[in-house]
Amino acid sequence: MDDKKLTNDKTVKLSVEDMNNVAGGTGDYSSYYINPDTCISCGACPNACPTEAIVEGRDSYIITEDCVGCGQCADECPTDSIHRR
Ligand code: SF4
Ligand code: SF4
Repeated sequence: MDDKKLTNDKTVKLSVEDMNNVAGGTGDYSSYYINPDTCISCGACPNACPTEAIVEGRDSYIITEDCVGCGQCADECPTDSIHRR
């Protein structure tokens, strides 16, 4: 895994409470995961994520600790690859 791809370089960070209000999320870090066996790396989920929590990994996109559990990525995935833990 390329650690650089996991680096979050955002300069402004909102608190979990703020993001719950913005995204309607649960505040449960990394509460969603991507199944690398079915992800086709279409790029729809990072575009849907309000916290930029989804990054490109070696074999598929992956969800990082910035996830607040809003579920918007799962709604957009065409291959039903994103699920709650
Ligand atoms: S869109 Fe997905 S990865 Fe982003 S915060 Fe919501 S549940 Fe987490
Ligand atoms: S939307 Fe689904 S198939 Fe597309 S990159 Fe995200 S997890 Fe993979």
